[in-house]
Amino acid sequence: MDPVSQAADDQFVLDIRGLGKSFGATRALDDISLGVRSASVHALVGENGAGKSTLGKIIAGVYPPDQGELVLRGSPVAFRSPREALAEGIAIVAQEVALVPQRTVAENVFLGAEPRRAGFVDGRTLLSRFEQLTATSGFVLKAGALVGRLSLAEQQQVEILRALARDAQIIVLDEPSASLSAKEVDRLHEIVRSLRATGHTVVLVSHFLNEVLELSDSVTTLRDGKVIRTAATAAETEASLLSAMLGRPASRAYPPKAERPTDTPAALTIEGLTAPGVRDVSLAIGQGEIVGLAGLIGAGRTELARAIYGATPSSAGELRAGERPLAGSPVASIRAGVLLIPESRKDDGLLLRRSIRENVSLASLPSLLRFGFVRRGLERERVSDAVRKAAGAPIIDAPAGTLSGGNQQKLMFARALLAQPRVLIADEPTRGVDVGAKRDLYELLVQLASGGVGILLISNEIEEILGLAHRVLVMRAGRLVAELTGDAMTEEAILTAAFGTSARSAA
Ligand code: ADP
Ligand code: MG
Repeated sequence: MDPVSQAADDQFVLDIRGLGKSFGATRALDDISLGVRSASVHALVGENGAGKSTLGKIIAGVYPPDQGELVLRGSPVAFRSPREALAEGIAIVAQEVALVPQRTVAENVFLGAEPRRAGFVDGRTLLSRFEQLTATSGFVLKAGALVGRLSLAEQQQVEILRALARDAQIIVLDEPSASLSAKEVDRLHEIVRSLRATGHTVVLVSHFLNEVLELSDSVTTLRDGKVIRTAATAAETEASLLSAMLGRPASRAYPPKAERPTDTPAALTIEGLTAPGVRDVSLAIGQGEIVGLAGLIGAGRTELARAIYGATPSSAGELRAGERPLAGSPVASIRAGVLLIPESRKDDGLLLRRSIRENVSLASLPSLLRFGFVRRGLERERVSDAVRKAAGAPIIDAPAGTLSGGNQQKLMFARALLAQPRVLIADEPTRGVDVGAKRDLYELLVQLASGGVGILLISNEIEEILGLAHRVLVMRAGRLVAELTGDAMTEEAILTAAFGTSARSAA
């Protein structure tokens, strides 16, 4: 090896060479080679099933590789267990939290590595070491709190502390932000940065490309178990990563747009609707039409959605689904064929503790009843079918809360597929959803529209609206201020209307 590349190799705390792994007939990893620099954040991106978790697990000793080797600080290693990897300073915070819920935070942090004195756990040393750890990491965790009572974000912090307590230098984080709130995600990012600042190396698996671009120093893109490339993050963009992940240009992330239906009867008609946050809104959505609703945060889009659905009372206006007047309550709306996929599926969309089956059949119960009882056999059959169409997997008995954000959102679509609505109002349907699942959701929206459903799509991502909608309405301060079609549908036109730039300069 020539001296230059030798020098480069020396900077890799972890050098992965020709790694291969199969599960039965599935080639999860194929000839994976990449180098991870010391005290850096190295991201792994790729679609679902690309092999990210498998790679993370091999690094952390959960699985042995079938081929290839791991070279740690210049020496080859072959871990037979996570314990062996940990002894060499490598830990993983996996997608599945692995803590003992009935034990305290401090107990979990030191589990199996408790400071002892004369054979007994030394409580005082344990506590002072815990305090030292939280002080250096900046985590706000109570030593005596029961882990089972903590939020997922806090449980992740416990896992990170546990890795630090064992002096791990390399920490694999597998999709740590997948189920966190925006605020918790910010906190996690601070944590990742401070880990790097204290000399730790973080291997970060993430679906969120903005997170990867913001946090990481290098990024390896995987596709179908192969490395597409490893690059300095500064050399990548969201579009370049997407096209590497998908194997085709990112613009194809949207399904082909069906022709805008004209002359179709209206699926939804609204005249002069006034409600909290909504002033005198009139609009019509044709059958099979996707209408984008754009506007700044607080412009009244969610309020409009809720008023149409009857979740908030309106003080004036006429609403019709097809020819049928809407009676101003969610139950009446569902009966009239108007469904809402709300902005916050956790707060008012899904019953997380209830089964997937119950969540999906919720809006279709009238059609599943006989003599007032739900026909379970029919329910199972129809729900399985809808879930298979929307999510690809027919698991229906697990609680909805056990699913990832993307799959929870697919349940909302399964609910819509099953209910066969006339009108679907989708309020930020892809927020917090990973790229792969986003694309699936786009397919579902387009599929529903081509089946004749009129769709009102609310999104903060202008690109998403432009990629999907036949027509765009822009709201500002509770009113509709612009309607854009055809070539007039541009990002600039939407922003101008949303900000009211021209109006303000005229004033
Ligand atoms: P990612 O984390 O990128 O979504 P994974 O590493 O989990 O991908 O999976 C890569 C491939 O290996 C997938 O096809 C997946 O179904 C398969 N796979 C992963 N773990 C196992 C396992 N324990 N048993 C069988 N197949 C697996
Ligand atoms: Mg994974």
